[in-house]
Amino acid sequence: MPIYQPQRGTYDAFYEDQENIEKIASLLKQIASIYGYNPISVPVYETTELFARSAGESSDIVTKEMFTFLDKGGRSITLRPEWTAGVMRAIVTNKLYATKDLPLKLSYYGPTFRYERPQAGRYRQFNQMGVENVGVSSPYSDAETITLGYNSLKMIGFSHVILKINSIGDEESRNAYKEALKEYFSSKIDTMCPDCQRRYKINPLRILDCKDKDDQEIIKDAPKMGDFLNENSKKYFQEILTLLDNQGVEYEIDDSLVRGLDYYSHVVFEFHFISKEGTNLGAIGAGGHYDNLVEEVGGPKLSSVGFAFGIERLNTLLKEISPETYSKCFLDVFVVWLGKDVESYAYDTLQNLRLNGFKADMNFEEKSFKSQIKIALRKQAKFILIIGEDEVKNNAFGLKNLLNQEQITVTKDELITKLDELCIEEE
Ligand code: AMP
Repeated sequence: MPIYQPQRGTYDAFYEDQENIEKIASLLKQIASIYGYNPISVPVYETTELFARSAGESSDIVTKEMFTFLDKGGRSITLRPEWTAGVMRAIVTNKLYATKDLPLKLSYYGPTFRYERPQAGRYRQFNQMGVENVGVSSPYSDAETITLGYNSLKMIGFSHVILKINSIGDEESRNAYKEALKEYFSSKIDTMCPDCQRRYKINPLRILDCKDKDDQEIIKDAPKMGDFLNENSKKYFQEILTLLDNQGVEYEIDDSLVRGLDYYSHVVFEFHFISKEGTNLGAIGAGGHYDNLVEEVGGPKLSSVGFAFGIERLNTLLKEISPETYSKCFLDVFVVWLGKDVESYAYDTLQNLRLNGFKADMNFEEKSFKSQIKIALRKQAKFILIIGEDEVKNNAFGLKNLLNQEQITVTKDELITKLDELCIEEE
C-alpha cells in the first residue's frame, strides 16, 4: 500500500499541539470580543482578482505566493493568502457599512494559504487570527487596535513584546517618498536582484523589504520615509504614538518598516518576540492602517485598521517560554473496572461522570488492574475510580488521586460532590 506524505509546507496537528492552537485562538477571540469585536467568517477561496487587486501587483503575495487554480467552470480561484480582502468583500456584498454601526469591528480565525518556501515558522497552510476595524478615521481607532494586539499577546503569556511601528504617511507623502527612492536607486538598480528591479518599476517602496544581503547594504543608506511625511501625516502618527504612550504600550519606531501589501497607508506595525533561548520566528503578528480597500472592492471609502497573528508561531513560542501553562491533554477520572460482570455498571458510572462535566474515560477491553493503571497514567488522569464486585454490592468506590497516591472510599451518591471538591483543590 502506498504511504502518503503530507504536502510540502503543511503539517498535522494533534493532541497537545492542536489543543493549544485551539486554546490560543479562542483566547484571542475572547480578548477581541472584550474590545467590542464581533466574529466574521468568509470563504477560504475567492476570485483571484480580489486578492490581486487588493494586495497589489507588486506584493510578494501576489507575484509568488498565491495558491491559484481554475475551477471546473474555468474561473480563476485563489485560496486566501490573507483575510483582509475577503472581509472587505463581505462588508460590501452584505452592505454591512450601511446596516451596522461604524466602525465595523470584526474578528476572524482560520486557515490561510501561501505558497512560500517552508522553514521554521513558515508554512503553506497556517492559521491566522486577526481583526479589522472599519469605518472611522481617528488615531484612537489605530491606537486602540494596536493596543488590543499588544495586550492580547501579554494576556496569553508573552511577557515582553517588541512592537515595531512606522508611518508610511498619506498618499501625497508616499508619492514624494517613492520619487526620492526612484532617484536614489536609479544608479544602483542594475546591480540589484531581479525582484528589486521589478519592484523599482511597479512600487519602489517594496525594495525596502528585500532580504538579499548585498541589496540590504544599498538599502541601508536609502532616504527615510520619516523625512517625507507631510504635516498631516506627521500629526496623525504623533497622535497615535501619544495614545500608545498613555496606555503604557512600548514600541520601537522602525523607519525601514513598510510591510508587504500595497494597501497600507499611515501607521504600519509588527509584533516580534525573541525567546531567551534565541528562537526568533520573525513577526508573530502584523498589520496597519488602510484607506481605500473597501472602495477598491466596490464600496464607499472607509478608513480602516487591522492586524493578524500567526497562530502556529504563537503556539511554538508559548510552548517554549511557558511550558507550565501549556495545556496538557488529561482526564479528570479514569474508570478502572475488574471483571466482566461489572462492566456495564462501570459504563453507567462513566456516563454519569461525563454528564456532570468531568473529563472521563474507561477501557472497553477486559484488562488487569495493573494495565488499566498504566493506561490511566499515560492518559494523565488525575483520579482513578475503582469498580469491582464488592464496590457494586456496597454502592461505594475506591477513588485514588494519582498525583499523591491518596485513596478514599466514596459512596455512589457522594461521588460527584466529592470529585468536584477534589478537582477544585487540584487546580
Ligand atoms: P502578514 O499578513 O504577512 O503580515 O502575516 C501576519 C502574520 O501571519 C505574521 O506575522 C505571521 O505570524 C503569520 N504568517 C504569515 N505567513 C506565514 C506562514 N507562511 N506560516 C506561518 N505563519 C505565517
